[in-house]
Amino acid sequence: MSPSPTSEFESILADLLDLAHHLGEEQRDYAIIGEGNVSARLDETTFLIKASGSSLQTLRADQVARVQLLPVVAAIECPTSAQDLDDEGVRQLLDSARADKEQPWPSVETFFHALLYRLTGAAFIGHTHPVAVCSVLCSQHARLIARHLMPDEIVVCGPESVFVPYTDPGLPLARAIGEQVRAYQARWGEWPRTIYLENHGLIALGASAKQVKNVTAMAVKHARVLVGALSCGGARFLDEVASTRIHTRPDEEVRRNQFK
Ligand SMILES: [Zn+2]
Repeated sequence: MSPSPTSEFESILADLLDLAHHLGEEQRDYAIIGEGNVSARLDETTFLIKASGSSLQTLRADQVARVQLLPVVAAIECPTSAQDLDDEGVRQLLDSARADKEQPWPSVETFFHALLYRLTGAAFIGHTHPVAVCSVLCSQHARLIARHLMPDEIVVCGPESVFVPYTDPGLPLARAIGEQVRAYQARWGEWPRTIYLENHGLIALGASAKQVKNVTAMAVKHARVLVGALSCGGARFLDEVASTRIHTRPDEEVRRNQFK
């Protein structure tokens, strides 16, 4: 990718690479081979994203693509022009959205990253396929994963999570995510931190790379606890009153800000 003169750009890129290496560490079991991707908002119109075919664990600066937000969001939000895009149409769209033609191809999951930057205040996004999370998402109990079990989970991941039924990756998945995120925002008046994709994986949103790491770690713990609870006779979720209480307590607000 092209170098930028701004130190802010270098700082965001360094944070993005660090996030990729953290999420890709083998012992975490979040992603293997080329699975998963990370991105970072640069400004209102562009963001950085892992290139197609690269690996989180070994991601380098020359494997990061700079993408223009607006053409991608337009294709997602204007189905009449993009509803029937075939694979070649998608390729052309991604090509036109590349801010620099010298750079590598962005991930095919660029679509939902772009839409999430449009809909939320996230500055960094991490998408992984953790074994613990996928164990629940590939089960008969997949939908249960969106309900929270522990107070600390509410502090880190919000009052509940977004669940997206299985959808074909690319434009259709981005549209399905957008629908569920808008419903969450209407219900809770804020943007979500955790989005679970049925039979697929996790999306963690954050105001910083550190927050994406924290949200991912807590989501994986949640999945492990949920599997344990289901094997111990069934899960007992925090009800809406308890969740709202934790979510709005002033002392928890202080802790929440520490995790950003
Ligand atoms: Zn994925």
